[in-house]
Amino acid sequence: SKVLVTGANGYIASWVSRTLLEAGFAVRGQVRSVAKGEHSKKLFSAYGERYEIVVVEDITKEGAFDEAVKGVDAIEHTASPVTFVCDDPKELIEPAVQGTLGLLRSALRFGSNLKRVVMTSSTAAVITVTDTPQIFSELDWNEQAVKDVEENGRDALGRNKYRASKSLAEKSAWRFVEENKDAIGWDFVVIIPPYVFGPILHDVPDLSQLNVSVSEFYQAVIKGSGPPEFRSTWVDVRDLALAHILALQKEQAGGNRFIVCAGTFTWQDFVDTANAISPLVYTNLPKGSPDTRSGAPGVVHLIDFDVSKARRVLGIEKYITKEECTLACLEDFKARGW
Ligand code: NDP
Repeated sequence: SKVLVTGANGYIASWVSRTLLEAGFAVRGQVRSVAKGEHSKKLFSAYGERYEIVVVEDITKEGAFDEAVKGVDAIEHTASPVTFVCDDPKELIEPAVQGTLGLLRSALRFGSNLKRVVMTSSTAAVITVTDTPQIFSELDWNEQAVKDVEENGRDALGRNKYRASKSLAEKSAWRFVEENKDAIGWDFVVIIPPYVFGPILHDVPDLSQLNVSVSEFYQAVIKGSGPPEFRSTWVDVRDLALAHILALQKEQAGGNRFIVCAGTFTWQDFVDTANAISPLVYTNLPKGSPDTRSGAPGVVHLIDFDVSKARRVLGIEKYITKEECTLACLEDFKARGW
């Protein structure tokens, strides 16, 4: 069967596409221009006609996906702006929300073969930042970032503009599905990752064009410039891609959101891991400071996630470790001459 992957030239979408192709699916990758489709066409040339590109220049335009959804059995919707640096929050919110709603409207009207739509949301749509440790689940929604953006507009926290775009996009998708439940012949699943790290398949001509999450990993581990006070959660891109495929394959997944998360981290954890690889991939990496690694006195993770639902329904029992992820990243960076 054939799957439309939106934002197909992106970091995560490239792994989703590859994993789909390996599992026997055909893939129609949506990109914004012919040029942006060239790399993946080459990358997946071994799959012949099972991989094709469709150009949708402006995903916010009404009916933008009308042609792209025709004849596909499923959709993996990943396209959405990823940046923490933006002035007007609308720059993120409009493509996130209108891109998603437009896709679902096209799917409703023209997706006559469609059985399932999977969307890539984010833990940004789930968390509330407080000063006490919390474990979040699929029951939680980030209202805090939406409120910050509503009240403060351009002056909202940069991260909250991105978080609001993800929260609003996912919420509007669920609302659309609920409001149209009698008319749609497919169901809806959401995959929710934290920070995503791991090797790269997509086109990155130089370091400055690296996607946000891998770029932060690179700066922290190779350059030693990860903020010492930073605390977060992560998953390997290969586990995340697998989760997207399981979300299509598991009948019982329909109508659910799933958090897929390998655990918490501080940048020092990855710095330590990189320095402990034997034999070393990079010699003379920055050593950082041991007092900021997880487990050190006073290092508290305020945010973590309950991943039992993904285990139970999708069957994700174990995650790629920090050691496996770091080794793959470093070998990839090294091979690129970075
Ligand atoms: P990338 O930046 O690598 O890919 C983003 C994709 O979305 C690209 O194909 C990009 O197209 C497309 N896109 C961005 N802005 C627009 C727009 N305004 N209109 C149309 N298309 C657009 O990011 P990732 O692979 O990291 O992210 C993919 C998805 O995963 C996003 O939904 C993101 O929110 C989510 N996610 C990512 C995490 C991470 O750590 N990487 C964590 C949690 C969620 P183009 O190249 O043409 O700009």
